[in-house]
Amino acid sequence: MALFLAPLTSRAQVFFRVSVKVFTDSNGNRPAGRSNAEIQDDYTYYNQLLSKYARGCQFSLTEIVQMPASLSGWFNVTARSGTSRDNLLANCTSNSALYAYRSDNVNVYINNSSSGVCCGANNGLIFTGNEDDHITPVHEIGHMLGLSHTQGSGCNSCCPDPLGCCDTPGDDGIADTIPDLPCWSQNQISQNQFSQNYANLSAGQQDQVDDVWLNIMSYHYGNFNNLLERLTPGQMDQLAMTANGTRDNVTGNYFRFVDPFSVFDGLGGGLNTATAFRTVEGAITGSGDDDVLAIRAGTYNRALAGVWRITQNRVLTSRNGLVRITKTP
Ligand SMILES: [Zn+2]
Repeated sequence: MALFLAPLTSRAQVFFRVSVKVFTDSNGNRPAGRSNAEIQDDYTYYNQLLSKYARGCQFSLTEIVQMPASLSGWFNVTARSGTSRDNLLANCTSNSALYAYRSDNVNVYINNSSSGVCCGANNGLIFTGNEDDHITPVHEIGHMLGLSHTQGSGCNSCCPDPLGCCDTPGDDGIADTIPDLPCWSQNQISQNQFSQNYANLSAGQQDQVDDVWLNIMSYHYGNFNNLLERLTPGQMDQLAMTANGTRDNVTGNYFRFVDPFSVFDGLGGGLNTATAFRTVEGAITGSGDDDVLAIRAGTYNRALAGVWRITQNRVLTSRNGLVRITKTP
């Protein structure tokens, strides 16, 4: 039994295709709260978050497939387990028809447990419990699209767990997220970075703390649930590069970066100044239909804007603030 959702009539941005599968019990019943409408409602919310970041991307929930009762052995398995994930992935790849495993989608499997896990080898998968109205599924998709936790990788538990990391935040590889640990409070994040409590910070500093404290890729959801709603420009850059690269199979088009500090103007629009397009004109000419140009904030004079000859559609977004195009030569 599958629900095939209406095809999108126009790309006009980058869509991350997501195929959701729901395990059932031996009587063929889904977990409570996991009807098609309730799952679609979650993705509507996730897309509202993506819209806020204004990076020209959305999730495309391509289908919701109810798994047959013959697979009810998965109904109460602990989803948040690397072993469960690897076992499920092995079954999916050896019997892709039965498990509705898609090579061109992010594959999300839902059962009756809680929390979740990503990704495993190659196209991988996401395995979550019954996370209705919760941030977990989009957090796991964040991992699928190349994001680490705000506390870095391999730091997933709190002290006094002997495996917990008590003092030293890891590195998430993102320049605009300040250091974090799974069990830090808002004041601890603040003290570590600014040596002051949150209440004493400037508005800009508070915003930096909140970028971590309210981050989808943080572990602070013990406190907030769905109020975790932030991804930073740096995280969106990383996500775009992963979508262009190792997860190219779940999209149909590309993000192309424009940076006036770039040395060249035609190497493909990568993130750094060695590979980004230098001019808007170069990016329009050198990208494909409905590609999203992610432009570094700043002023683009006539030389950097160029003369555009539009023969295909493009989407223009700003990476991190105002983009102004001037008539100045
Ligand atoms: Zn995670």
